[in-house]
Parts: sequence; C-alpha cells; structure tokens
Amino acid sequence: MNSQKILDTFTETKALLKGHFELSSGRHSDTYFQCALVLQYPDITEKLAAELAKKLKNDDITCVIGPALGGVTIAYELGRQLKCRALFAERKEGVMQLRRGFSLSPEDKVLLVEDVITTGGSVLEVAELVKQMKVAIAGICCVVNRSNSDMLSSYQLTSLVKMTPQLFEPDACPLCKQGIPLSKPGSKKIIGK
Ligand SMILES: [Zn+2]
Repeated sequence: MNSQKILDTFTETKALLKGHFELSSGRHSDTYFQCALVLQYPDITEKLAAELAKKLKNDDITCVIGPALGGVTIAYELGRQLKCRALFAERKEGVMQLRRGFSLSPEDKVLLVEDVITTGGSVLEVAELVKQMKVAIAGICCVVNRSNSDMLSSYQLTSLVKMTPQLFEPDACPLCKQGIPLSKPGSKKIIGK
C-alpha cells in the first residue's frame, strides 16, 4: 500500500473528509480526519499494521503500548503481528499510568503506538512513564503523522502517512469567506450556512 492507496482507504471509510470543518480546537479546516472510522474495520487495520510493521527497524520489540483510547486498536493489532505483548496506558486523575496489572521488566523493549500524532502529548507521557521504569524505548509509531517531523522529542517517529491539513482562525478563514457551509464533525448539525 503506497501513501495514495492509504489515503484512498481513509476516504472510502469516511475517516477522511474534505469540506469545511470546525475542529475541537475552534479552528477551521478543509480536512477532517477521524482515525477510529478506518480502524473500525479489523481487516483494514490488519493491512495498515502490516505496512507499519514493514517500516519498523527493530525486530527485538517485546511489547507495544498505546495510549487509551486512540492507540489501543492499532497497538493491539501491531502487537499481534509483531508477536509481542500489547498493552495500553490510561489516565487516572490526569496522570498516564499502566493499570489493570500491566507491568514491564528491565528486559523489555517497548514500542509506543498511537493512531494520530499532532503534538504527541499522550504518547510522550507514556514515553516518560516507560523511561521512569528504566525500560528501553524502541521508538514511536503512528498511523497518521500530523506533526511535520520524523522525530518526536528525542524519539524516532515512524508513520504510515503524513498529513498536514491547513488550519484557519475562524475570522481569517477563506472557506467562510467563500460562504461554504461549516460542519462540526462528531455532531450531525450543520452550523451556519
Ligand atoms: Zn471557516
């Protein structure tokens, strides 16, 4: 699967929408992406994880960890293909933790897995958690990289596809000026006209 084929898959599953959107940040964009809509299909997730696995240089990964909730599905499938454990980290009272009896040992080598990385806030919190446990980190990988870089902090960032949609402040949005109806994904409501 090349990048175009992957983007086509996003479009076919309606994970990737083109139009005029109000994002949760309040900014407007011509692109909206909801990774869960492509990962809802296990057969597609299997193919995406296989492409991601091909790009990974480390073959001694013993464990993958995805931050809940976005990283859970892709981490689980990637773990299945890498034949290693697949954990998830989750926040309790705002602090990222390994719960439910999940543990790591000093012999582990951990790959951090996320669906979409923009600033990578959640996945970097997991990296800090793993580092504090003195466990080696093989790197970070994601389905979609929106960060404009192949590094996240000091970690190598491996992604399936890069996407950098244009973002506009509402009062300087060219799509608003063209009178294109604004929609807010996640709700069915069409806002404005
Ligand atoms: Zn707009």
